[in-house]
Amino acid sequence: MNNIQDCYGINENGHLTIGGADTVCLAEKYGTPLYVLDENKIRRQCAIYRDAIKKHFPEGSMPFYASKALSFVDIYKIVKSENIGIDIVSPGELYTAISAGFDVSNACFHGNNKTDADIEYGITSGVGYFVADSREEVEAIDRIAKKLGKTQKILLRITPGIDPHTLKAISTGRVDSKFGTPLIEGKAEEITSFALSKENAILCGFHCHIGSQIFEPAPFIDAATVMISFLSDMKDKFGFEADVLNLGGGFAVKYTAEQGEVNISEYIGEIAKNVTNLCEKYSVKMPKIFMEPGRSIVAAAGITLYTVGTRKEIPGFKNYISIDGGMPDNPRYALYQSPYTVVCANRANAPADYKATVCGRCCESGDLIAEDIKVQKMDRGDTLAVLVTGAYNYSMASNYNRIPRPPIVIVKDGDDRLSVRRESFEDLIKNEVL
Ligand SMILES: *Cc1c(COP(=O)(O)O)cnc(C)c1O
Repeated sequence: MNNIQDCYGINENGHLTIGGADTVCLAEKYGTPLYVLDENKIRRQCAIYRDAIKKHFPEGSMPFYASKALSFVDIYKIVKSENIGIDIVSPGELYTAISAGFDVSNACFHGNNKTDADIEYGITSGVGYFVADSREEVEAIDRIAKKLGKTQKILLRITPGIDPHTLKAISTGRVDSKFGTPLIEGKAEEITSFALSKENAILCGFHCHIGSQIFEPAPFIDAATVMISFLSDMKDKFGFEADVLNLGGGFAVKYTAEQGEVNISEYIGEIAKNVTNLCEKYSVKMPKIFMEPGRSIVAAAGITLYTVGTRKEIPGFKNYISIDGGMPDNPRYALYQSPYTVVCANRANAPADYKATVCGRCCESGDLIAEDIKVQKMDRGDTLAVLVTGAYNYSMASNYNRIPRPPIVIVKDGDDRLSVRRESFEDLIKNEVL
């Protein structure tokens, strides 16, 4: 298991552990399905980004945790105590961060369609930067800031036209994207000139985010090249020197043994070397560099525990192992066939020599977690663990089939605490006017 992520292990009982805690005991204590997070692993990932960015980039450069990957009160408290910023994409995420006591002057507010109400809430809450997606949004931020008698720092989201060689659904920086303003036909120049004419929306720099699950530094360097050349153009045309260049998120996470490793600090070093050279080449002042890691902060720190129900063998076809959760708590296989590693938590040492398809409990054939993978042969009552589920699981969870969302338990140094309680049936109907 250690060949996938360093926070997993197997103890003397042959049980899977996470952050030193016995997962079989956790499943018994809290029930299943259950999300488990290793706090120390999250802290280590925050520190890797914080230290590498501090080492390689100018003062004021920092990581902003992309909290859409996993948003609940305790995660903002953890991130806050690691002294890194956050990236939020909705007023709901902003509200959750504020509820955690997060200082949102260290927040970037994203999204391709912020409403006037979202903008007003963000400005009155003191959000540090709005990442403005379009001309309409720059206009709205300026207008609402003026009404409130405030100024608001903004970055402009630019689509640099880089294909990060990842899944289409999570690729965001190509010219044809719902996000940002493209560089083609002077569009990015036009929005820059428009933003510079505003008095209450204060242009501080630019942002790009090319996609997710990127295993190489090269696409980031390509994006930085395009962006720094653009910075140079804006300096020449308008005398505007960007204070901030935000390179977005997207470093990959190892979900299965076959996937490669991403050495985050080494990659940041490589990106920094290139950014430094590019700034020299294009004669622009080196801006503060922001990065927005999401999954690479939290994914590995999380696992989901389930109880196995039926096992069905269909001769000549598949062997199905059914679990007591599925697409409501982890829709990622159904959405984009994301690969996962599955382990029998109570017999983690047993050979994984049984070919199976792990399926959820929903009335939906696409409700799968993994197809035709090698696992231990599991039967009713076994505890099944899906590894590397810390990102985009809880945050994407639904109540489909009226299945209550699982709780989140945080483990630290072998101890465990309930952070989010399991939804109840009463919760399911609480908004219904009876
Ligand atoms: C989703 C997103 C991120 C984080 O992406 P990860 O792949 O989780 O690192 C960062 N920035 C923006 C603007 C995003 O939309």
